[in-house]
Amino acid sequence: MSKKDIYLKLKTIAKLPSPSQVALEVMRLCYRDSSSLQDITNVVETDPSLSAEFLKYANSSLLSSNAPVASVQRAAVKIGMKGIVNLALSFSLLCQNQDAICENFNYNKFWSKSLAQAVAARAIAVKQKQFDPDELFTCALLSHIGELAFATVFSQEYSKILSQELTDSNLLEAEHNAFGLNHHELTAEMFQDWGLPKKYYLAAKFHEHRLPGDIREDEVIKLVEVMHLSMQLADICLLELPLSQTFADIEDIAAKYGVPNENFYEFFDQIVRTWQEWGYLYKIQTEQCPLYHQIKQLEDISIEAQVISKTDEEILILAVDDDPLTLLNLSKILKNTKRRVITAPDGQEGLQIAQKMRPEMVITDWRMPHLDGLELCQALRNTKITEHTYIIMLTSNETDDELVQAFDVGADDYVVKPFRPKVLEARIRSGERLIRYQRTVNHDREVIQRYARRLSSANRKLRTMAMTDALTGLPNRRSAMSRMKDVVAESSRHDEKLSCILIDIDHFKQINDTYGHDNGDIVLKEVANIFAQNARSYDTISRMGGEEFLVISTRSDRTDTHHLAERLRSAVEKHVVTLSDGNTASVTISLGVATWNDGYTDGDDFIKAADNALYRAKHNGRNRIETA
Ligand code: GH3
Ligand code: MG
Ligand code: MG
Repeated sequence: MSKKDIYLKLKTIAKLPSPSQVALEVMRLCYRDSSSLQDITNVVETDPSLSAEFLKYANSSLLSSNAPVASVQRAAVKIGMKGIVNLALSFSLLCQNQDAICENFNYNKFWSKSLAQAVAARAIAVKQKQFDPDELFTCALLSHIGELAFATVFSQEYSKILSQELTDSNLLEAEHNAFGLNHHELTAEMFQDWGLPKKYYLAAKFHEHRLPGDIREDEVIKLVEVMHLSMQLADICLLELPLSQTFADIEDIAAKYGVPNENFYEFFDQIVRTWQEWGYLYKIQTEQCPLYHQIKQLEDISIEAQVISKTDEEILILAVDDDPLTLLNLSKILKNTKRRVITAPDGQEGLQIAQKMRPEMVITDWRMPHLDGLELCQALRNTKITEHTYIIMLTSNETDDELVQAFDVGADDYVVKPFRPKVLEARIRSGERLIRYQRTVNHDREVIQRYARRLSSANRKLRTMAMTDALTGLPNRRSAMSRMKDVVAESSRHDEKLSCILIDIDHFKQINDTYGHDNGDIVLKEVANIFAQNARSYDTISRMGGEEFLVISTRSDRTDTHHLAERLRSAVEKHVVTLSDGNTASVTISLGVATWNDGYTDGDDFIKAADNALYRAKHNGRNRIETA
């Protein structure tokens, strides 16, 4: 069955995510040259909720303007034709984001990442000036819609696949095995079905991997690269790990598309801000992403400084012979600007010098006292640091059997004595070619290893950063949720005590309003400090966002936890914060305590109970503790 047939069959068995009729009609009109803005406005006005979204967007900070817009027509003029398609398509799909049914599909993350990618793609298009920014926004926003479609149609089966936490390529394979096509292919089918131009479905299909060789249109190749870049920028926004390229690579690709390296910081930070504004507009949770320069600091400079072997350095040759005259002769013949020659009078000394100086080539006589040429050869091969040395044996009148023996113990070549200088020189050059080739291989390997080290160092630090709240230095929500999952599993398994406290600062908005946001930040940091100072080793305190904190206490029952809560409450109440202008302020906190029991099904449930208790604490007058 062709991919198209599979798609058509999918469409008949379930309701796929799809744009509303109005959005499709708007799209059709926009791609038709003869349509006017008025025609399109007329269609939009038939859908009240879409009209409302248009006005909301036209008046949002995303479109800078001072005069408020009150009619769809004025909004349409302001947004422009391509912008309208983008909005119609995006809103009508985003609005279906309500019924989450696939358990292991992270709906919020899906939209959050899609949105980041859309914003990034749009920003690149603006710089690059070849593609239409609004079209690219839509294309990127929907470029993974196939995943959502699987989650919608095959919620249980897809959930099972997702639970295996497969790598990208294994996921695609698992999808293919289960459904007959993978999410990229499904996305492409959906794009075609909705009437999006061909270049966009090619971009959606291939931007995560390699473009097939038979597609050579420059426009498509660029589009795929832009989409790929936008995806990587989205990964950084969401601190998705591990990154598959270093920051330097990503910056260089961006430079190809109109963002000079020196402007990249600003470019990225603006993407994050816009992403968060869109998130606010669409009610999609966006992460608190650190500024680019903070992320960038992660890369280890020390690794950068490591020396890389030079490929064009002179070659060191060791000549070993018990006849001083031969040695002298050899030195004379070998000498040139690309070589340095050292000598040894017998095998024994030759071996010692070789181990110390590590020559890349050894030319050795066969018959010598103490250690002969064969034994030297064998000894060099058996020692790690000299095992790859290129060895030329000087022979007198050896038989064929003896020559075979020489090669068997590891000689690379031989020259018959008395040697003719021209022949010896030719043999040596052949050896040097091999040595230089080996150097290039080693050099390349070093570059790759260095690259891998940089990448893993950046990823390691990014992982820490992804788990840390930048303002207070406490673990963040992501970290808290992961810890909660672990401790819940652990406590249930060993039947151990577990409690949590959800804390919210009282009337914090007033602090901001009265003293300014910066002072608000000072208060947050100091409160975080107090929490950290009063915590015990088995309490983990995280900032959940805004002025809300979570304490996870293992080994604590209701009474223990209540004591801890009271200690925190009174410490905050007593504390006086010195503000930036020298004034002082103090705050109080409200706390909701929950203790684990069999009634809770998971961590979310547990935190919800603490949240309900916190709500009661607020309701009952603040600066107090309530227990679930
Ligand atoms: P309540 O006692 O009911 O909790 O009142 P509140 O004012 O504390 O609650 P509300 O949730 O209405 O306000 C929280 C405020 O916290 C709103 C927001 O501007 C502010 N806020 C959130 N994050 C930060 C931050 O990182 N820094 C600062 N300075 N303020 C923040
Ligand atoms: Mg508050
Ligand atoms: Mg609050």
